[in-house]
Amino acid sequence: MIETIGFDADDTLWHNEILYLRAQEAFQELLVPYAPPGKALDELHRTELQNIPLYGYGIKGFALSMIETAIRLSDGRTTAAETARILDIAKEMLRAPVQLLDGVREVLAALAPDYELVMITKGDLLDQELKVARSGLGPFFRNIEVVPEKNPEIYLEILDRLRIPPQRFLMVGNSLRSDILPLVSLGAHAVHIPYDITWEHEAVELGTGQAAGYAELEQIGLLPGFVQELSMQLGGKDGS
Ligand SMILES: [Mg+2]
Repeated sequence: MIETIGFDADDTLWHNEILYLRAQEAFQELLVPYAPPGKALDELHRTELQNIPLYGYGIKGFALSMIETAIRLSDGRTTAAETARILDIAKEMLRAPVQLLDGVREVLAALAPDYELVMITKGDLLDQELKVARSGLGPFFRNIEVVPEKNPEIYLEILDRLRIPPQRFLMVGNSLRSDILPLVSLGAHAVHIPYDITWEHEAVELGTGQAAGYAELEQIGLLPGFVQELSMQLGGKDGS
């Protein structure tokens, strides 16, 4: 049976990647005097990936990577005004209103009476906490975990701490790499709900979901029906 359902937040509960796409467009435009748009974007991606071990995930690290990329692509000629514009791009992202995906509130309201809900999100602590507050979704969740990385060790630590057996846990998220595969490896259940846009770093090549030990749903509105069916398959609330 399923007792606890974990939710990723960015691009599972609310839109996030779209903020990065808009910022990348503004950044490329800003760097036109120094580099063609495609090159600026490639360099930015490369810089971001190199910096993840130092900065972690989130908008502040992204801002530093934009500044670093601008310095490199301009051979040090980028101006203070251009740097100020980059900081503005990042602040716009940090202040952006939270836009929930369609049906999220209804789905959480439908599941909350029967299951414990936890949010497990990767990124900058302050930024993620502000988004939770702005989303108004906080009260649905027993726990909100902001983690630096999503791997089997970190998920296991959370499940152990909350005393949740993996086989009674279902994780829901848009990223195969971060939300699904680590849980499958722990023997937990997982539902992949793809988002329109996936960050390159999160993309993985895989076969069909069923064969790989997880399910795939087109949109989050289908989740309550899926959970009900899965619970029945697993023997209902009284089964194991
Ligand atoms: Mg996500």
